[in-house]
Amino acid sequence: MACQHLWEAKPSLANIDLDTPIQFVKGVGPFRASKFADVGVKTVADLIEHLPFRYETLPESVPIDQLILNDISTVIGQVTSVRAKPGRRRGSVMADIVDGTGRVRARWFNAPYVAEQVRPGCTIRVTGRVETDPDGRYAQFANPRFTICSEDEPFTGDADYFEPVYPATGTLTSKSIAKTITAVLARLTNRIPDPIPDQQRQQNGWPARQTAIRCVHQPTTLTDVPIARRRLAYDELLLSQIAIQKVRRDRDALPATAPIQCTPKIDERIRARLPFDLTPGQEKSVATIVNDLAKPTPMRRLLQGDVGCGKTAVALYAALVAVANGRQVALLAPTEILAEQHTGKIKRYLHDSRVRVELLVGGMTASKRTKLINDISAGEVNWIIGTHALIQKDVRFANLGLVIIDEQHRFGVAQRAAMFQSAGKSVDGLVMSATPIPRTLAMTCFGDLDITTIRDAPPGRQPVRTWLIEHDMEDRMWHAIRQRLVAGEQAYIIYPLVTESEHLDLKNATTEYERLASGPFAGIDVGLIHGRQSTADRDREMNRFRDGETRALVSTTVIEVGVDVPNASIMVIEHAERFGLSQLHQLRGRIGRGTRKSDCFLRTDSHSPRARERLSILTRSQNGFEIAEQDLRLRGPGELLGKRQHGLPEFKIADLTTDLDLLQMARDDATQILDTDPQLAHTDHRILRNMLTRKFADLMPMVNVA
Ligand code: ADP
Ligand code: MG
Repeated sequence: MACQHLWEAKPSLANIDLDTPIQFVKGVGPFRASKFADVGVKTVADLIEHLPFRYETLPESVPIDQLILNDISTVIGQVTSVRAKPGRRRGSVMADIVDGTGRVRARWFNAPYVAEQVRPGCTIRVTGRVETDPDGRYAQFANPRFTICSEDEPFTGDADYFEPVYPATGTLTSKSIAKTITAVLARLTNRIPDPIPDQQRQQNGWPARQTAIRCVHQPTTLTDVPIARRRLAYDELLLSQIAIQKVRRDRDALPATAPIQCTPKIDERIRARLPFDLTPGQEKSVATIVNDLAKPTPMRRLLQGDVGCGKTAVALYAALVAVANGRQVALLAPTEILAEQHTGKIKRYLHDSRVRVELLVGGMTASKRTKLINDISAGEVNWIIGTHALIQKDVRFANLGLVIIDEQHRFGVAQRAAMFQSAGKSVDGLVMSATPIPRTLAMTCFGDLDITTIRDAPPGRQPVRTWLIEHDMEDRMWHAIRQRLVAGEQAYIIYPLVTESEHLDLKNATTEYERLASGPFAGIDVGLIHGRQSTADRDREMNRFRDGETRALVSTTVIEVGVDVPNASIMVIEHAERFGLSQLHQLRGRIGRGTRKSDCFLRTDSHSPRARERLSILTRSQNGFEIAEQDLRLRGPGELLGKRQHGLPEFKIADLTTDLDLLQMARDDATQILDTDPQLAHTDHRILRNMLTRKFADLMPMVNVA
């Protein structure tokens, strides 16, 4: 390309490299550095990966006599004279430009190199805000962006001016981000190394990393941007795949765990505690886990299976094997409600046994808590259940052998790795997830774990019939539900919001609770539960519903995971189109847990064919994996696992909706790299290793990169 693209000039910076903290980039300083930190940018390396999300084309050129003061404008003209005023601090370069309609002045401060580009007689295009010179005589551009055009290749048009627009926050504007990036890129020439060998790059038709970085920030044509972005997305995915696979491979290097053996006698005693025979899927999982426990290599296993497939029974089995070997077990639940529920269930299974199961949650009296903690450290408690605060705080275990994390898609790789440690020793770890995760995603979320899947369900399960209910059927629906409640069934009624929202025109649990209790469900006991209640209130409501005191429970999605009330056989989900399919499936899994025929009513007034098509998938399928695949296809992975804390690695560049093929490629490449060079010690992998260390500093104790 003949037109060399130069961007707004900036004063020279001291030596910077990729590791330079953003604070020390000239013009940033501590205050703006803290703002950059808010968008995840701490170093120069982070900054150049902060990509624009769109581009604006700069204004078309106008004749000089039509420039309007204060407008951002572009003119094209001939440079008639250039004067450079030297000076370290206030030096400037001044150029006069004419186009036949008038004269305008362009001035660049502290940018001596401009004089090397801008020469009398050349054709120039400048873009900037139109000001007047200090004496008020000329129209002037201060520090405009400019492009010089050679005579034999005139400008092709205005279309090749692109202004990157960055994700910004209130105090950190896209413009100021652009300015910092421009300044940094000017100083990083040839200092953005490439982790990928030339040959592979050429095979894929990819630009060098350095070229790709420049291209996304300062494109001369938008056609190159997608491939540059994909190149950078690949780098990001490759690094995360190496990190994740390395965590897994380095498992053998972790301190060995004392073997936990399951003898026929132990097996017999455990089975005697279960009120049912295990399903084939449960049997297979139990066998795998027993095998893991017996090995000195720490177990790192994900047990996944659709809601209600009986993962808890498998976990119970594993825990009892550990306890029979004289080891302690910690079970971590995502919420206190679930921790309590697990405790209740497990205590019922273990009724009359010598196994001591205790719940440790906030809201205990200080003295009770102190005593419990002492008992735990004395080894007198066999099985401790709580939220993950349990193993991070002052709790010391005498002999922790197994950590079980329930419904854990809320934790990331690093967090998880930390949880499977106790007093510096590694322990066996079992993760249970009821969100079925398509294989492609499992390797990004759980690539550090071995995966076991339960595909069958306990016998006698009735599929949950699922209906799409439109506005004109609503009254009939409430009427029918009312009759069933009176006849002894129970229902969940789910809303997307707790209370009224200014922004969204949606029904909310609080208002609808009043309406239902005094309208369709008048005379029936109705409960209300949501995340803004105190834990005590929530527990009371949950218990009332479980004990059948309330027949209908108006709720938000707080009941999404784990809640088990077998008598509940009806569910209404309002504004169903607002939820992800997997989330709806998860919610639906709260019913159909007994032997009664269950019905789930998806309420929507949406006329969008897309929304209706999505919801109809649920009316047709009961298979969580199939639904998850569809959800992934339709909405992407962030949505699939729920907006909040889905535990997916946060990719800044890669978008798994569109980049799944890159992920696959990155995974295979990572495997190959680690196969040939497990410690990344080879000089060819030096750059990769540096990037990895930079990016996964928090994982590094685990990612044992030499
Ligand atoms: P998950 O944790 O996978 O959602 P649970 O372990 O809570 O599922 O089991 C759901 C219900 O199925 C529970 O009420 C449990 O008692 C019952 N259940 C589990 N396994 C079996 C089995 N093999 N046979 C019969 N019922 C079972
Ligand atoms: Mg469960």
